[in-house]
Amino acid sequence: MDHDKIKAAVAQIIVAIGEDPKREGLVDTPNRVAEMYTELFSGLTKDPKEELSVGFELGHREMVIVKDIPFYSMCEHHLLPFFGVVHIGYIPNVSGRIVGISKLARVVEAYARRPQVQERMTSEIAETISDGLKASGVAVVIQAEHLCMMMRGINKPGSKVITSAVRGDFRKRAASRAEFLSLIQNKS
Ligand code: ZN
Repeated sequence: MDHDKIKAAVAQIIVAIGEDPKREGLVDTPNRVAEMYTELFSGLTKDPKEELSVGFELGHREMVIVKDIPFYSMCEHHLLPFFGVVHIGYIPNVSGRIVGISKLARVVEAYARRPQVQERMTSEIAETISDGLKASGVAVVIQAEHLCMMMRGINKPGSKVITSAVRGDFRKRAASRAEFLSLIQNKS
């Protein structure tokens, strides 16, 4: 990440919109934005698959669901935030390979902290868990609000975008999909 380049670019934007880069409130803004982008885009230097390299075989072959994993990402079309929750379900393979719950949250984090579109993020998470765990099935649902929809353009505050991706058993078996969907909808 090139901190100085971000700083220079933000300084240019401030001038380009007709603001005064020397104004007290703005004088440190290029530096602050550069520091913030380093954090918000830190997923670019991570390999999400690595998060799943340490799993364990428990012989558990039932569905595992982690719901309401919060995330914050940046829409790559407008560089404005979109944010919400990710629900992940998977069915372990024949040897029952599972992974610590925090690892799934780290996969989400690695994909969220980069310029993104919600649809791609959904399938990337599903693909990574499917590959990384050699799972029999994976289902991912993301519910998010996009500031670029809320603040501009179609201007629809409160509307949510829901995307889903299913692999393996979840694609083949309607009963598994239905079980996943009913479990993630449970209030509590
Ligand atoms: Zn956008």
